[in-house]
Amino acid sequence: MADPRTGTMRNVALVGSTDSGKTTLVEALLAKAGVISRAGRVVDGSTVCDSSDIEKEVGRSLEAALVHFDHGGAHLNVIDTPGGPDFVGRAMAMLPAVETVILTLGAGQEIDTVGRRLMKKAIERDLPRMVVINKIDTGADLAASYEAVRTAFGDNCLPVNLPADGATKVIDCLSGESGESDLGPIEDFHTRILDQIVEVDEELMEIYLEGGELAPEKIQAAFKQALREGHLVPVLFVSAEAGTGIEAFLDAIVELCPNPLEGNPRPFEAGEGDDMKSISPSLDSNAPLLAHVFKITADPFVGKLSIFKVHQGVIKVGDSPHLDDDRKPVRLAHLFKLQGNKHVEVSELIAGDIGAVSKIDEMKRNSVLHDGTLGDHVHLRALELPRPMVGLAVTPEKRGSEAKLADAIAKLTSEDPTLNIERVAATKQTILRGMGEMHLRVTLRRLSEQYGVPVASEPPKVAYKETITIEASGHHRHKKQSGGAGQFGEVFLRVTPLEDGEGEFEFEDATVGGSIPKQFMPAIEKGVRQVLTGGAVAGYPLQRVRVSVYDGKYHPVDSKEIAFMTAGRRAFIDAVHKAKPVLLEPIVAIEITCPEDSIGDVGSDLAGHRGRMLGTDILGGGQALIRGTAPLSEVADYAGRLRSITGGAGSYTMEYSHDEATPVHVQQEVIAAFQPHTDED
Ligand code: GDP
Repeated sequence: MADPRTGTMRNVALVGSTDSGKTTLVEALLAKAGVISRAGRVVDGSTVCDSSDIEKEVGRSLEAALVHFDHGGAHLNVIDTPGGPDFVGRAMAMLPAVETVILTLGAGQEIDTVGRRLMKKAIERDLPRMVVINKIDTGADLAASYEAVRTAFGDNCLPVNLPADGATKVIDCLSGESGESDLGPIEDFHTRILDQIVEVDEELMEIYLEGGELAPEKIQAAFKQALREGHLVPVLFVSAEAGTGIEAFLDAIVELCPNPLEGNPRPFEAGEGDDMKSISPSLDSNAPLLAHVFKITADPFVGKLSIFKVHQGVIKVGDSPHLDDDRKPVRLAHLFKLQGNKHVEVSELIAGDIGAVSKIDEMKRNSVLHDGTLGDHVHLRALELPRPMVGLAVTPEKRGSEAKLADAIAKLTSEDPTLNIERVAATKQTILRGMGEMHLRVTLRRLSEQYGVPVASEPPKVAYKETITIEASGHHRHKKQSGGAGQFGEVFLRVTPLEDGEGEFEFEDATVGGSIPKQFMPAIEKGVRQVLTGGAVAGYPLQRVRVSVYDGKYHPVDSKEIAFMTAGRRAFIDAVHKAKPVLLEPIVAIEITCPEDSIGDVGSDLAGHRGRMLGTDILGGGQALIRGTAPLSEVADYAGRLRSITGGAGSYTMEYSHDEATPVHVQQEVIAAFQPHTDED
């Protein structure tokens, strides 16, 4: 049996572009629910959700923030997600914790790539969606804003309320049937939404078509089903600043959004490979514990904070559940609910609720707390997040603080799923990668201000990769006779390009008749592998190659492992040179929204930077969406370029797509600059 309190919960995430008014909306909700006496303002840095110094200074959310409050007998957990394109991954990472995703759109503002990607992700993750059109007080054309929503997300986006009397109030058009709204007669919208809702329930449809009376609870049930199935995307109108429609919005969340028991279950799994089985969490508080950590933050007061959602069972202070596959249970000394950056201690968190626990070092994003009875390797099916692509080469400003920097970066990357660090052997640089310029800038500031390690940064050298394009053979005979014992080993091998999906490297022994005794094969493979990291033609990692050793010679006395290692390495380099080697460079997929009249300029700028336009969609409201690809090295400074092309009206997101061969002239330059290390043998 589920705890009756689970049925009163509503977990929602507010998503959408920066400036659509999410943070202000959360303030308005908290004020209406009586949690704060009056709404704070983003411009004063006085809001509950934008609470870090950096957020206050830049006046926008960089992190997702959680708040909770009660309304109409329900308990609401609301997640305010960051709206900047650089933080789209951080916003996506919140989806496992909620039952409904609510896109916030500023009336008269464009629906940018962030909103579109999050709505798409919500569909992928089987999450009901809702749209709230904010800023209706601004005098913007609200009919046009609603049309933009329909063009972007489909005709199943239907209002449940409408602005009226010059957007000074909203009128319910789900239960209401008469009156006049700013967008036309209420009756028309009432009919449209009912037509859509009854489609999911045959019995209801029959009664409806015969003109019969529909019981409100039947309509509500069908509404929820339509919402769950993505058959309906309700649209509401509010002004977070003037307070218009706020109560109706809260009522809609309580009455129309699914509670955790009604929501589509999150896809948990146990085991690995063929033995993997799915687990559908029951949300029963008496069932074995299952909680998922969806966010890690470093809190200035309580230290590391792991934020989780309980999907089954209950967590109480003092409990010692299992954490992932660790044998040793973890003790939960304090539990919290979050109100922005404030923590409220609680004694338990039941199924369906969201809370946090502090100072457990072993906890990571995606960790699972369980009681050990659900099987091994219990996890939530991975949520694919965009891969960070924009990099900066970083070094600590003070010599000797490398370890401190590594430690600080490890903490930051554990918090942020779209940040990573890599030591690139080919360029001898340490590259911090994030989603964009702003993301990296904020990260560098945190390293300096929060962790006390100021870092110097510079644009990274391009991390090319080497590969071969045709099959070829290579040979080397290693012979040394200097004084005492000699060295002898001779290797013939063949290299073949590996196709997509065949992996990065294969090694096989294709010798016959014992031309090389088996015991020397590992030494040959070791020699070959030395080339993989350092490259054969330009000093970059070599990949996608199969190596078959097919012949050779050995000497009963002088053949040693070291001799075969050298022969293997040299034969491999010889073969690669003959196999038409190329340099690959990373290509990113880029999605740009911009005014329609900038399409030409955006396209020619891309073309001028070796990019390609793959398609353009007209979005309505004078906006267009351009999809394209470009070499990463050409779009490292894209934010500034797009700003100047579109006069600040464009936005974009990009993520890794694939590797592609560089043009011949680039390749020749890079190879010419390569100084191979002289062989020490
Ligand atoms: P977020 O980036 O989506 O969190 O948006 P904010 O809450 O920071 O709001 C962006 C700007 O829009 C701020 O200057 C707000 O004061 C303003 N804003 C938010 N909601 C409204 C509204 O309903 N009406 C008007 N006129 N301005 C609003």
